[in-house]
Parts: sequence; structure tokens; C-alpha cells
Amino acid sequence: MTQQLSTLDSGQAVVYTKTNIRRAFSDFDDTDIAGMYRQEDQLLVVRNDGTQQNFAAKPVADAYKDFTSRLPNFFAYLGPNYRGPSIWRNNCYVLLKGWHYQCQGMANTFNAIAQRKWIDKFTLINDENTLISLLDRFDLGYLISPDGKLKQRTDFGLGSDLDHKDEPEPEPFCSCGSFRRQQSCLSAIRREIPDYQPCCKHIAWFKRFRDYLVKRSQLIETQRGHNATKATAWFYAPPEIGQEHGRFSIIFTKHGQNAPITKWQQYRSGEVFTEDDAWDLFDSMIDNGYVPFPHTALPSIAHAFKQS
Ligand SMILES: [Zn+2]
Repeated sequence: MTQQLSTLDSGQAVVYTKTNIRRAFSDFDDTDIAGMYRQEDQLLVVRNDGTQQNFAAKPVADAYKDFTSRLPNFFAYLGPNYRGPSIWRNNCYVLLKGWHYQCQGMANTFNAIAQRKWIDKFTLINDENTLISLLDRFDLGYLISPDGKLKQRTDFGLGSDLDHKDEPEPEPFCSCGSFRRQQSCLSAIRREIPDYQPCCKHIAWFKRFRDYLVKRSQLIETQRGHNATKATAWFYAPPEIGQEHGRFSIIFTKHGQNAPITKWQQYRSGEVFTEDDAWDLFDSMIDNGYVPFPHTALPSIAHAFKQS
């Protein structure tokens, strides 16, 4: 039987990795493998001793999709001073890696300093490849276009067949290696997962962050004079060196965003929140009518938090 099986093609090799099999089947032993093959709806794993194991292919493909669209924490792609992605051109944005929030003291590292140096200068670079090389060289982040780059209009004159040529719809783009790998063998991946759209954690993060900004702006619009009566201020201390999690703290008030510190209260004091709680907590603040602010944005309470 096994002689008739062909090895995984480029798309299958991306989807049916040992890691993705383990994501789908937690007891999968990824050692001692002689070969992996695809047959009907199964994935065949042949061991070095000639024994064979069958796994359903679909859960592995689903695990691959879940993994490529996973959502990193709120701070994972914020630039200095909690800045979000900055618009570049052609419907592209620069998404910075969250170097400042990885652990205490990271603001003084080469990468973080390089981000602060470059953050307001990306628009001075006109060429996409030059910008991507810069982002790669200093490990600053990625060029990303979650809704697809704008179509490049080329006018070939009236009557030209090219005027009527069907132009492809804009497709999402990210300059990261994972996204480019998916793009390069997309038709092969689609033989395994029909209609698959390339995705990556950067695009997932960007969309979630944009949803958050839209919901927050909509809430502010409803406030008299655009000043929030119900407000929260949040503070984040990145993890200590050697620790896995940082500390996310929130205070809130019903007396206006500019209320003195005496009018604010700790949110669920006694509980410890981390970066992993931030997305859900922001949702809950906004759903309850509280506008979230980074503590640095409100002068009356900017010094209320212990810095580490
Ligand atoms: Zn990406």
C-alpha cells in the first residue's frame, strides 16, 4: 500500500505539519516518523518500524486555520506610548512589534529605541520593498494591509481591451514569513481547504484592535461634549524578567474623565489581571458605557499607578 502513496505536496506540507497534528490530537507522538501521506479524508503517519497510524485530516486542517488566525494579546503589537498601527499608503499600515511591553526594561533595548526613532518617519519612504527591508532589518514590525492594497489604476486609453479586463479584488497582505508562505502555495492549500484565505496573527490582531477603536469612538460620540462621564484608566506593567505575565490594572469613575484621583476607584481590587485579560476587559468596559483611557492620557490620574 504505502509504495503507491505520494509524499505531501507544498500545500499539504504547510497544513499537515507535525505541530498541527499535535494541535488537533494532543496525544500524537511526533518522533520516529518515516513519512506522512494523505489518502482520502485521512492522514497516514508511517513510523520507522513500518507501523502506520491514521488520523482524520479535517481536524488537523481546522487546527491549522485556528493557529494562523490566532489572536495575540492587546500589547503584542503596540508601539511606544501604546500607539497602534500607523497608516503608510496604498491602504497599508505599519504594525510594530510590542517590544516595549515584552518585559520590564525592554524600552531600553535596541529594537525599542529603533522603533521610537523611526515611528514618525515611515511615510517618508515611498517604496514598499525598501520599507519592508527596514522593518525586517531592525525587527521593528510588519507592513500589513488587512483589507487589501488599493488597486493600481493603469489607463491604457479608450477602447483598449485592458480597460475591461477583470481586476482581482484587493486581498489582504502581511509582510511576515507565515503570510508569504501561505500566499506562495495558496492554490495547493486550497486543494486541502477550499476557499482558504491567507491569514496571520498580525492580521487577526489588527482587526481586533480596529474593532476596539471603532466601539470606543462610537461610545465617545454619545457623550456630551465628547467628554466621558463614565471612564476607566488602565495601566500595564510588563512582566518582570523571568515572569510569564505582566500586571494590567484599571481604575474607574462615574464623575468624568477629568475627575480628581479621589473620585476614582480600583476595578475589582484584590484580583490580578494580566495582558491576556485586556481584550475582554476592554469589551466589558465599553459594553457597560465606560470609555477606556491609557493612564498617560489623563493628566489628573497619570501618576496614580505604581510603575512596576
Ligand atoms: Zn503577518
